[in-house]
This record gives sequence, structure tokens and C-alpha cells, in this order.
Amino acid sequence: MLKRLLQIFDASEGPLGSRVIRAKHHGIRNSDISRGGVRVIEQLHRAGYEAFLVGGGVRDLLLGAKPKDFDVATSATPEQIRAVFRSSRIIGKRFRIVHVRFGREIIEVTTFRDSHEEADGKHEAQQSEHGVLLRDNVYGDLRTDAERRDFTINALYYNPENGELLEFSTGLEDLNARTLRIIGNPGARYKEDPVRLLRAVRFAAKLGFSIEQSSEAPIREHADYLSHIPSARLFEEVLKLFMAGSATATLNLLREYHCLQYLFPSTDYCMEKGSEVDSNMITSATANTDKRIRQGKKITPAFIYAAFLWPALRASMRHLVNDQKLSTQEAMQQAAQGIITQQLSYTAIPKRFLVPMREIWALQLRLPRRSGKRAAVLMEHPRFRAAYDFLLLREQAGEDAQGLGNWWTQYQQTDDAGKAALVDGLESEQPQKRRRPPRRKTAPKTKAPQE
Ligand code: ATP
Ligand code: MG
Repeated sequence: MLKRLLQIFDASEGPLGSRVIRAKHHGIRNSDISRGGVRVIEQLHRAGYEAFLVGGGVRDLLLGAKPKDFDVATSATPEQIRAVFRSSRIIGKRFRIVHVRFGREIIEVTTFRDSHEEADGKHEAQQSEHGVLLRDNVYGDLRTDAERRDFTINALYYNPENGELLEFSTGLEDLNARTLRIIGNPGARYKEDPVRLLRAVRFAAKLGFSIEQSSEAPIREHADYLSHIPSARLFEEVLKLFMAGSATATLNLLREYHCLQYLFPSTDYCMEKGSEVDSNMITSATANTDKRIRQGKKITPAFIYAAFLWPALRASMRHLVNDQKLSTQEAMQQAAQGIITQQLSYTAIPKRFLVPMREIWALQLRLPRRSGKRAAVLMEHPRFRAAYDFLLLREQAGEDAQGLGNWWTQYQQTDDAGKAALVDGLESEQPQKRRRPPRRKTAPKTKAPQE
């Protein structure tokens, strides 16, 4: 596909100063676009509006990759879009978008934007004290829309009805050179929406692109802008960063660009200052997530959050057990509370993920207790599988769980008789396991509990 991009010089002049690249030169096929995407554009055209496929859909098609979703940009206002599609709803306040449902597919349709400087009043555009755009709903035309997009490679417009691709900046050239270039003044564009810092890192990691120098320099310098973003929006970004198949590359780049500390401060700290086991836990979690996505297995943010915060949880528990003499159970309760409270001031964690995350942690204390009917009961727990996977991850990271992962693997694979034998073996081992220190005449030196 990229070879075809070399023919971009065959472009001719299009509307509003754009360049037009015809179908035979760009190679996008409508059959690679979802039915919903094409139909939404056709219906908007029929209703008399301009409409194009834009963003990641066009970018990924040009790269020969399968787009995650299809975004449409149109001259119709949100209300006009609503009037065209019965099954649609307006979402977002900061940035109004219409979700058009097409069978099981949802197409995001946005109205052409203009610069917020063109706003008449606070209703359409509003900035916070830090210069972050709180509202970005000033409507414009195709050209101004292209200027408001984040990166040149995301600002290519495709019209499936006539097969024409339009560009206003250097999107095709940059795609060819595998370069991310922010549109406009980099410092200003990051300031008005610091999430673009994360988007730069995300696309660089996902596409393996390099970030052009003047787009790159402000990322490290202004990573602190991320603290101006509401925690709920950062949570949404975390999902895109870590649940899209390139979590490991993303984690590395987030650290390199000093952004991780504004998303997961305790994770960043443990990776910088913690032990090898701590770092391994986090990198194993991202590697494991990427692998599961490749294998088509289910993943959940609860697991990733549980792993990212685990080293800090362990450190806090160690302190509470050793210094404050709390029981392991109490220490976990208290440590979890503290770590979650801190994390929530950075990224939100919706309850539907927070509850399972805490369960995964709590089950780590139950997994070693397997005697009698306990193992059988535990296996029925709805979060057992996640907790078991988490245990394996801890062992993979280098935590010594004394063969517990292996025991549970065997337990799940064997029949009832085998299970009973495993539990019996355990009971006969138990007196040995609960070793008492030999009586000494002199007081033993206190030793820190094993990690
Ligand atoms: P993905 O493959 O992750 O969907 P994408 O580029 O399509 O990548 P979306 O979040 O779906 O990303 O956004 C669609 C398009 O909207 C982008 O390609 C870009 O043109 C524009 N866009 C999204 N977020 C921003 C932003 N914060 N600032 C400017 N433009 C943005
Ligand atoms: Mg998209």
C-alpha cells in the first residue's frame, strides 16, 4: 500500500486549497470499509451535506492495516445528523459527537470544526485557567476541520462515493516517511489539549512511527500538562494506551517521555526505584496483555490496574505488617485503600473495574489456603481465573510463591480423585510447612518477612 503513496505527486488541486489523490493512486478500496461507514456517508450526501471518512480509518487503510473503527466528518451539525439517522445520539459536552448505530457497529460522526478563536461566546468554546479547552464546539468547513485535527496522518479525508482522497497538509508524505507531525504550533496544540501528548506516544508505539523533532520536544518538557486533564478522561486514554495490543511499547515510550508519572505515579516510582521483581511485574503485565490480544483472549482493565498497582500495594503491606504489626488481611485492606485513593486522583477507575481489581488482590491471600474444601470452593469464585492468572504473573515476575501456581495448574487439570490427592498431599505436608523456629536459648535476630 505504501508503494502507492509514492505516487502522491499525481495529485491535483481540490476544494479549499486541498490536494486530491484519485483512487488509482491511493489504493483504498471501499470493500475494506465497514458497511456502516459507507452507508452513513452516503446518507449524509443524500441529505445534502458534505461527508468524509477521516482519522484512523483512512490512516490505517493507507498503511494496509485493519482499522479499529471508522470516523466520519461532515458539514451537518449534530442536530442535523440526528435528523438524518433515527438510531443516533449526541454524546459529549466538551466535544459534541454523534454516535450513529448501524447494526452492531457504531460510527462516530463529527461536525467540521473551526478554531476556538472564532467562537462567539462561552457556549461553544471555553478554556480552563490552564488554557485547556473545556469546550471545542465551534463549527467550520473542511479546511478548518483539517487544521483542528491532531496529526497530519490523521487529517486525510476520503470520499467513498467518488474515491477521492483529500489532504491539506503533509499527511501522505508523513505516512510514507512513518512520521508523526502535529498540525500547527506544537506547544500551543499540546497546551489546549494535553491528551495530544498521550496520543503522540500512543500512535508512535502502535504504528512504530517516529515523532518529528518539533512535535517531539514539547512532550517531555510539558508532560506536566497532563495534570490538567480530568481523571475520567485520563482513564479513557489509559484504556486506549494499554488495551490495544501495544501496551509494552507504549509503556516504554510513556516512561521515556516522562508521562507515566502523570498516569500511574506509584507504578512509575516502582519502575524507577523499585526492585527487579517490581519492574518485572509491570512489564510482564503489559507483555501478557499484548499476548492475550494477539491470541484473541479477553482482557480487562481490572487486571492491568491490579498488576500496575501491585508493587506499591506490596510495599505498603510490608510496612504495615512489619512496622504497625497488622495482620496480612488488615494490611491488605488498609494498603489497598491508600493506593486506590492516590490512583483515583490521577485516573478514574469505574466501579465495575475497581471491584474486580480488589477481588483479584484479596484472592491472592486466599489462594495459598487450599485444605479441606477450600480449594474446591475457591475455584467456583467468579474471579478465580483472573486471580490464578495473576498468581502466575507474580511468579513469572520473580515472586516466590513456593510452587503455588504449579499446584493450582495441576488442580485444575486433574479429575476429582486427582484433586482429592492434591489436597491430601497438602495436608500431609502442612505440619512440615508450618515450620516453627528451633528453640534457642539466645533471642533470635529478627528477620524481615520473605517477599
Ligand atoms: P484509533 O485507531 O485509535 O481510533 P484515531 O486516529 O481514529 O485512532 P480517534 O480517537 O478515533 O483516533 O479520533 C478520530 C480522529 O479525530 C483522529 O484521527 C483525529 O483526526 C481527531 N482527533 C481525535 N482526538 C483529537 C484531539 N485530542 N485533538 C485533535 N484531533 C483529534
Ligand atoms: Mg478512530
